[in-house]
Amino acid sequence: MLGQMMTAPLTISSLVDHAARYHSATQVYSVNTGGGVEETTWGQVAANSRALGDALTKLGLEPQARCATIAWNNRRHLEIYFGVSGAGFVCHTINPRLFPEQLVYIINHAEDKVLFIDKTFVPLLAAIRDKCPGLEHIVLMDDRDDQAAAAIDGLKSYDDLLTGGSSDFEWPELDENTASSLCYTSGTTGNPKGVLYSHRSTVLHSLMACVPDSLDLSATDTVLPVVPMFHVNAWGTPYACALVGAQMVLPGPGLDGASLVGLIDTYKVNCALGVPTIWLGLLNEAEKLGSSLDSLKRTVVGGSACPPSMIHAFREKYGVETVHAWGMTEMSPLGSSNKPLAKHKNMAEADQHKIRENQGRPPWGVELKILGDEGQTLPHDGEAQGELHVRGHWILDSYLGKTPDETLTNGWFDTGDVASIDVDGYLYIKDRSKDIIKSGGEWISSVDLENIAIAHPALADAAVIGARHEKWDERPVLVAVAADGATPSEAEVLGIFDGKIAKWQVPDKVVFTDVLPRNATGKVLKRDLRDQFGDVLIG
Ligand code: AMP
Repeated sequence: MLGQMMTAPLTISSLVDHAARYHSATQVYSVNTGGGVEETTWGQVAANSRALGDALTKLGLEPQARCATIAWNNRRHLEIYFGVSGAGFVCHTINPRLFPEQLVYIINHAEDKVLFIDKTFVPLLAAIRDKCPGLEHIVLMDDRDDQAAAAIDGLKSYDDLLTGGSSDFEWPELDENTASSLCYTSGTTGNPKGVLYSHRSTVLHSLMACVPDSLDLSATDTVLPVVPMFHVNAWGTPYACALVGAQMVLPGPGLDGASLVGLIDTYKVNCALGVPTIWLGLLNEAEKLGSSLDSLKRTVVGGSACPPSMIHAFREKYGVETVHAWGMTEMSPLGSSNKPLAKHKNMAEADQHKIRENQGRPPWGVELKILGDEGQTLPHDGEAQGELHVRGHWILDSYLGKTPDETLTNGWFDTGDVASIDVDGYLYIKDRSKDIIKSGGEWISSVDLENIAIAHPALADAAVIGARHEKWDERPVLVAVAADGATPSEAEVLGIFDGKIAKWQVPDKVVFTDVLPRNATGKVLKRDLRDQFGDVLIG
């Protein structure tokens, strides 16, 4: 017997419709690419999304046509998120920090038909336009602009396009499993791979992003996604904020510490999300400007391991709770987030702090397991370390153009991370499996060493690599960037590790460099560091 309940497809348009119906006057603040802040509302964003859906439909695009964006976090980008997917097309967000050859590859591989660009990226596109013959419409996310139009043949203006569409446009009825959006991984080897999200996976992900033990979003929040809308849909915040009717502050191109402190203080942001490097800049700047970040209550930090010293600084200096979260493009991205259990409440502060440092527990909808060298399932005892595999409602089953057989192992996705999981389900990411240091049969987590090093005031940045070693195969080497004006010695830096880890895990050497190489999403390129420093312990 079937249940006798109503059903309706879980679609992205239903999210913005809800925001328009019940949170119409709730503000969305958006920093313009050309400067200045624009104030709009969820009601207006929803109306513009429908008008955009109508305008795109009138262009005669096939259902599921890919409409790409190369853009900052701003209100037009938000309207594109809902307008494109709602109208049955696929919103393909592209990371502008990729190399031009990778951009060309992605645009052609995705078969993008429409490309929306912010003015900043006009020169970038002008340089590769000829190599992307499939692009039919290029739309500047602005009013008409003669200078930009001169650089790109046939350039349309977003504002003109909207004028040609109607906000009375009816969203098409879609199967909830229809593709809604597309994001490519920023792999450090080989070509980027496409992850094609569906309406259903996006809505389920949004629901779980809002629950208290995840990002805890509600209609009382003012949310600042610093994480770019071209990086895994800004961790799903545009959809989740629509679902609960939260206020949004979209930071545009200004991601420096001073701009972010300004936005937080002006718009009374209470929840901000981003990668650790962004918060390093913000904390420095808040200190310099003397801001106490009064409104801020929560930061969600992920994308790379959040150093414990940062969690401390936010909490002790500013009264801000850090939610350390882990995820991947392939997982929409939410895989786990760090929130306490009831039994932790009465623990000593130092023990509670220790628990806050790890990557947290998975929400409903995500399952984790760790596998050993022989493919055997390892216990969740907080000790055993293995290859982390995942499955769940918002995890890919195949990359674009690939089959599940080519993507999964026995129905699970291999994350490429090495982790341990404790009895309560808390996840401890040790490393990327290719970055973990294998020293004489023992594994050393480069992340653990980096977390300790980065807390030292004389260091601005630090990465640990496995360098080749005649006796132990690999030994850790710390690649360090000195803080402005500091000149720490090697011995001083190595002294940081005293008493914090076993002696055999202490790096064999420190090499100083000016800046760490990073990929398009801000992750340190360990492979480049290994190329440069991998032989410093030999001969
Ligand atoms: P991306 O798909 O670009 O978001 O990268 C996903 C990868 O980033 C994961 O597989 C991890 O290696 C890393 N990552 C993300 N969040 C964290 C975190 N909180 N701690 C450690 N590594 C992380």
